[in-house]
Amino acid sequence: MSPAWVVPCVTIVLTQVAVIATSIYLHRALAHRALDLHPIADLVFRITLWLTTGQSRQQWVAVHRKHHTFTDRPGDPHSPRLLGFWRVQLFNVAYYIREAKNAKTLEAFAPDLRPDRLDRLLFTRGFLGVGIGLSLLCMLIGLWAGLIAGGLHAVLYVFVLAPLINALGHWRGTKNFDNTAYNWRLLAWITGGESLHNNHHAHPRSAKFSLRRSEFDPSWPIIRSLAAAGLLVVSGPPVAWARVTVRRD
Ligand SMILES: [Zn+2]
Ligand SMILES: [Zn+2]
Repeated sequence: MSPAWVVPCVTIVLTQVAVIATSIYLHRALAHRALDLHPIADLVFRITLWLTTGQSRQQWVAVHRKHHTFTDRPGDPHSPRLLGFWRVQLFNVAYYIREAKNAKTLEAFAPDLRPDRLDRLLFTRGFLGVGIGLSLLCMLIGLWAGLIAGGLHAVLYVFVLAPLINALGHWRGTKNFDNTAYNWRLLAWITGGESLHNNHHAHPRSAKFSLRRSEFDPSWPIIRSLAAAGLLVVSGPPVAWARVTVRRD
């Protein structure tokens, strides 16, 4: 039997790996093309996300690009201003799946990410990925510990962190820029920097989400390390905060 600290520690690590891989790979590299990944880094991120979330990259990117196109206007897949805070917080996953299953959305917003050979063979089979991931976890830390840690990770990722970014990030918070998204500095520490959402909507192609000294984007040091190792190149425009009026409210 695993010691009692194993389950909480493994849960936190798993969730953070999935959140940061989502932010760096699906969000910054693919959806906004702010990063250019080396093929090895690209494959490692795809495998990591397949095992920890089972998500299709074309679906994630299409839904997210549609969110940027129609932010808080009719057509936004998960706007709390249109749907209400609690509906997005509690049912974010349902709104996501509804949009992700829409073939027109995929074709209109992510034609550059049509399934390739690896997708057809493995990565679009989400349940297979999550099943293999869970099996590996159980082999590593024991059956019950693996099932509990895997289950807690799924709940945190699907029902807590992702909805907090989409719901709270468009509902209340602080602002640096004039748009309908908000920053949550403390939350950003556990959402891979995603909760600096006001900054992100102001500069969607910036690979770095933090601006002020009090803001921290946990994905940024990882991006810098991967860039130093030659595994990616920051291709989005440099952070051009100085050219934009910063609101102090
Ligand atoms: Zn948003
Ligand atoms: Zn975005």
